[in-house]
Amino acid sequence: MTDYVRPRLELPVKAEKLLLHSCCAPCSGEVMEAITASGIDYTIFFYNPNIHPQREYLIRKDENIRFAELHNVPFIDVDYDTDNWFARAKGMENEPERGIRCTMCFDMRFERTALYAAENGFSVISSSLGISRWKDMKQINDCGKRAAEHYPGITYWDYNWRKQGGSARMIEISKRERFYQQEYCGCVYSLRDSNLHRKSQGRDMIRIGTTYYGDAE
Ligand code: SF4
Repeated sequence: MTDYVRPRLELPVKAEKLLLHSCCAPCSGEVMEAITASGIDYTIFFYNPNIHPQREYLIRKDENIRFAELHNVPFIDVDYDTDNWFARAKGMENEPERGIRCTMCFDMRFERTALYAAENGFSVISSSLGISRWKDMKQINDCGKRAAEHYPGITYWDYNWRKQGGSARMIEISKRERFYQQEYCGCVYSLRDSNLHRKSQGRDMIRIGTTYYGDAE
């Protein structure tokens, strides 16, 4: 593994362990290595019922499991309760990315993360979601804080994973590990909209399970 120079991280409220929600291996690769390098005890929480179709969901999850095993990090594999996700997304099908459907989607994933944390002795939660430059970090942090506020003993850690080279290392690690490279955010509506955008540019439609970091080099 490359020895990156990273800031030494400390959990808020002098907590001893972290429950890290992970959306996928590419986003969590740098986050996991930064946390590991700081000697922080943590567990991965994979709860992403937004990802569609199931084939894409399983590819993303399996990549994340592989990387967690490499680092000997416990991996909590939570329900793929898509019915709940679609029920909450009802009426928001045509909302743009970064809009209210995404707020709902982040809320749902953080609510489950905070619940698990409260029931299993974790006092700090965070997520890999915020490292992606495609996402609105404030929107994500607001959702994380809102979920944590329901539990007096839970703190949301809003660390900016992008700073001090984090974004560049995220790409480097993804190429080094040859992670699966998803080509849309995750839900069926983001798949639809990404394909519409491609069509407008005369590009091929997304083909699930075909693209890996480093393929183009
Ligand atoms: S675009 Fe992404 S964040 Fe927004 S609802 Fe779909 S999967 Fe969730």
